[in-house]
Amino acid sequence: MERSAIVRVKEGLHARPAARFVKLARAFQSDVEIAKGGKIVSAKSSVKLMLLTVKEGDEVKLKVRGPDETEAMGMLIAYLENPQAGLDEEPGQQPPSTTAATDDAPHLPGGHKGAAASAGAALGAVFPYFPPTLEPVGADIPPAEREAEKARLRMAVAAVTGRMESMIAAAPGSADAEIVRALIELASDEDLIARAEETIGRGLDAVSATLAAGEVLAVEFEGLDDPYMKARAGDLHAVTRQICLALTEKEDVDLSGVPEGAILVAEDIGAFELARAPLHRIAGILCGQGGATSHVAIIARNHGIPAVLGLGSAIEAFRTARRAALDGSRGLVFADPEEALERDFAARIARQEEERQALTAYVDHKPVLAGGRAITIAANLGSLSEIDNARAVGAMGVGLFRTEIMFMAHPMLPSEEEQYETYAALAAAFAPEEVIVRTLDIGGDKPVAGIDFPEEENPFLGWRGIRMCLDRPAVFKPQLRALLRANHEGNLKVMLPMVSTLDELRRTRTLIEECEAELEREGEAFRRFALGVMIETPAAVLIAPELAAESAFFSIGTNDLTQYIMAADRLNMSVAALGDVSNPAIMRAIELTAKAGVEAGIMVGICGEAAADTTLIPRFLEMGISELSMSPAAVLAAKKAVVEYTAKG
Ligand code: PEP
Ligand code: MG
Repeated sequence: MERSAIVRVKEGLHARPAARFVKLARAFQSDVEIAKGGKIVSAKSSVKLMLLTVKEGDEVKLKVRGPDETEAMGMLIAYLENPQAGLDEEPGQQPPSTTAATDDAPHLPGGHKGAAASAGAALGAVFPYFPPTLEPVGADIPPAEREAEKARLRMAVAAVTGRMESMIAAAPGSADAEIVRALIELASDEDLIARAEETIGRGLDAVSATLAAGEVLAVEFEGLDDPYMKARAGDLHAVTRQICLALTEKEDVDLSGVPEGAILVAEDIGAFELARAPLHRIAGILCGQGGATSHVAIIARNHGIPAVLGLGSAIEAFRTARRAALDGSRGLVFADPEEALERDFAARIARQEEERQALTAYVDHKPVLAGGRAITIAANLGSLSEIDNARAVGAMGVGLFRTEIMFMAHPMLPSEEEQYETYAALAAAFAPEEVIVRTLDIGGDKPVAGIDFPEEENPFLGWRGIRMCLDRPAVFKPQLRALLRANHEGNLKVMLPMVSTLDELRRTRTLIEECEAELEREGEAFRRFALGVMIETPAAVLIAPELAAESAFFSIGTNDLTQYIMAADRLNMSVAALGDVSNPAIMRAIELTAKAGVEAGIMVGICGEAAADTTLIPRFLEMGISELSMSPAAVLAAKKAVVEYTAKG
């Protein structure tokens, strides 16, 4: 069977999403091929898939043949159409900006400029990590021994992937696990191994054949335009190196001996070697190779280690240096910094550490304004796996649970039972603090398997959110029933997205009453929840007093509200400047909403990105906002901003 799909995976099938897609494809017996622009490759090889360079928004065709083709097709299409599939970096971990061209610091003694790969300042003793280059053995393998040589290669691959698997097993939920998973796919890639085996078949030894196969594929990656895909060449070199080490029963210089506070200096470091190094002891990373999109950079950002990569030949100066200082935000590095510079860096690091420490003081803090108004700093979540992190940073409940993520990750619509389990677990994890679940917010731009969306000229102005749900009670009612049943502790609240008329709120209430009557008849336990409205359309702002009279709370979705008020597509970079929430038009809309809510005596919160903007928080508080919900990474800084506002009186 064949099907076309528009790829919605954010940023396309780059290394980690490609690895996950390949893993999914390999779970089926059927042959799976993926075609784009006249090129067709096996979807069971991550190398081939990455070289196809499938970007977000590309049209691809899937060809699936075999006993489980229907199921495979459903799962794989659902994956490709799921925008969340590519998101595995924590928010707030974007590469630092690399705009430092005007810096004259490289002209200071020992100064050089590289790619700003992970923010922050670091200073410490150099730990050089320059394992010897592996040379091809160049041995002739007699025909009778070639099959055994191929078997030796496969055993080496199994040994390498086995080590990587056990590392994931030791820390399955860690941010690095995804990266190591992508490396496993690369190390066991059928294309890589087939090339190496073919070379062995011609009489070359396994080490030389592996190095040659890795080199050929790395050159292909290096030839791609996308800097992210170019960076995968480094991953290929790293995995082929591991395979060759296993073949020769050698180990690289161990990073386990890195002393406390060291600056790791290397030409390049394999992501696998780095991920298993004692990262808590590494103060900074400098590499000749790589850039902000390398896996080394991602691991560094995951662990808050400042890093400057892509230093080229300048790395040589650090190889022999005793000490190094680096500014990972601006990409500046200094070998053996002079005393004044040392002092400057030491002061910056002390400030950095103070700020980090100071923020942890807010974990258990529950802010209350001078007038007695309690402010809730809650988390925006999309899955249960994010609960621990949100709790660890002191999120005071959940201000937005995006249920569409569960729907999009599902091959079919999730059942009422599956939804019930998710909502109940979420509510239990935060009780007695409140959890606000948003009903399904999907539309032409966020498709879900099991709901057919019409082709729309303007999906953002189309059949989405509450509009679609009210037209599809078969989709909406199981969600409402699951929510009623999951409200065991009474801490679950529900809000409706994209509301633009009072009628939408009323019709939802009627449906909820129908669900309650059904559950009553079925003898199923349930508890009524508070029903609120998201204010994210200009219409909702303008009828806020009427909506406030009939809803339990407001939550302002500044992301959508901004795009609709400014008539500026939130995904269109050319109009990004219009998306500034501090624009008076948006601030006035927030103020009108807050006023209507406060006058009606209901809680008004903000759950769009602006909630985390510490420069705007004082103004939101003045308007009467009492809940700010944001990505967990922003919670502590927001708490601090509220405390500072209170202190100013
Ligand atoms: C918003 O629009 O501000 C919001 C929080 O919802 P989403 O970003 O999921 O559309
Ligand atoms: Mg929205």
